[in-house]
Amino acid sequence: MIIPTLGCPSSCSYCWSSEEGSPIMTIETVKEVVEWLKNFRDDPVTFTFHGGEPLLAGADFYRETLSLLTEGLRHQKIAFALQTNLWKLTPELAQVLADYNIPLGSSLDGPQELNDLQRSEGYYEKTMAGYEIAKDHGLSVQFICTFTSYSVDFKEDIVNFFLENGLTFKLHPALPSLRDENPEKWALDPEKYGELLVYLLDKYLENMNEIEIRNINDLCRCVFTGRGTVCTYVDCMEDTFAVGPDGSIYPCYRFVGMPEWIMGNVRDHPSQDDLAQSEAGKLMHQFKEYVDRECKGCKHIRYCRGGCPYNAIAPTSGEIKGVDPHCVAYKRIFDEITDRFNKEMFGSLGMEMAPLQSEPAEDAKPGIMALIQKIISS
Ligand code: SF4
Ligand code: SF4
Repeated sequence: MIIPTLGCPSSCSYCWSSEEGSPIMTIETVKEVVEWLKNFRDDPVTFTFHGGEPLLAGADFYRETLSLLTEGLRHQKIAFALQTNLWKLTPELAQVLADYNIPLGSSLDGPQELNDLQRSEGYYEKTMAGYEIAKDHGLSVQFICTFTSYSVDFKEDIVNFFLENGLTFKLHPALPSLRDENPEKWALDPEKYGELLVYLLDKYLENMNEIEIRNINDLCRCVFTGRGTVCTYVDCMEDTFAVGPDGSIYPCYRFVGMPEWIMGNVRDHPSQDDLAQSEAGKLMHQFKEYVDRECKGCKHIRYCRGGCPYNAIAPTSGEIKGVDPHCVAYKRIFDEITDRFNKEMFGSLGMEMAPLQSEPAEDAKPGIMALIQKIISS
């Protein structure tokens, strides 16, 4: 993950990751990233530009950076992605990103009024204006919808909004904002998060041909394949790193700007082992061992892996007191998917053994198996 700046022109109510006056990464730092990674590992690498708001770095930054990374690391298989609110997307910038075929993730919390109440006045229009520019340049945009303690009560309106506008989305539960005096104000309660996931699973099944909810795909994939496919549900330590504006290396973008989580700096070209030996690296590893012990009896451990280490250990200043507090939600949705999957499997076996049993009603809602089929075929 490359974090060109922690600055952001918006001021979303529940933001926990932007910082006013944050510098912009220099091209010298990008060159050091390339030198560092040349001998770091041979695996394929995906560079995700994140922020703050990464487009604040401007078109020249991306023109030069994308060329440096592509040329300098041509021996590796590299891919790009970028997470932005789209406000700063100009036709020039869109063309640069389109030249590298970069998929964009953006953020919308639902209908305009609700979105602007949570994010900031005028947010919706600015993001939609950027979305039009992105579409004009053939860029693919998928949205993240943050559900807060407030917006969860409007879940139906929110889903209808994405459905009516034909937008693919993924949900994020609002996290406690560690930089705020009242960190829990917007945070989504884990129980409610679990209920929300089950609700979204049902809405997805009802509207499978019209909508795509990426988290639900990821969760079904976990249960079906027995392994996690997104960072929350794998051991992300050692495979994910984030480089902040000044070249500091962190375990992930969520830690950027927290000095106690710096693992090294790109200008020193640290090895994987050097990073693992840093205090932050050791803590991340201890979390992994903690999960092995603590979640041992959980039937979902293989594909949950204790959830997100940031959620678990950042709020306690690195003290490992528990797994990801969203455990309740993960268990709820993994249990639900597993139960439905087993019931459908068992049911279909039963049908084979009892062919005279009546067929399911024509208007019956598709089940988990239909969704898994869709995920596999896509
Ligand atoms: S710390 Fe959390 S958000 Fe960051 S890579 Fe790991 S699981 Fe993902
Ligand atoms: S659901 Fe909870 S107990 Fe099970 S592996 Fe995930 S975090 Fe651990």
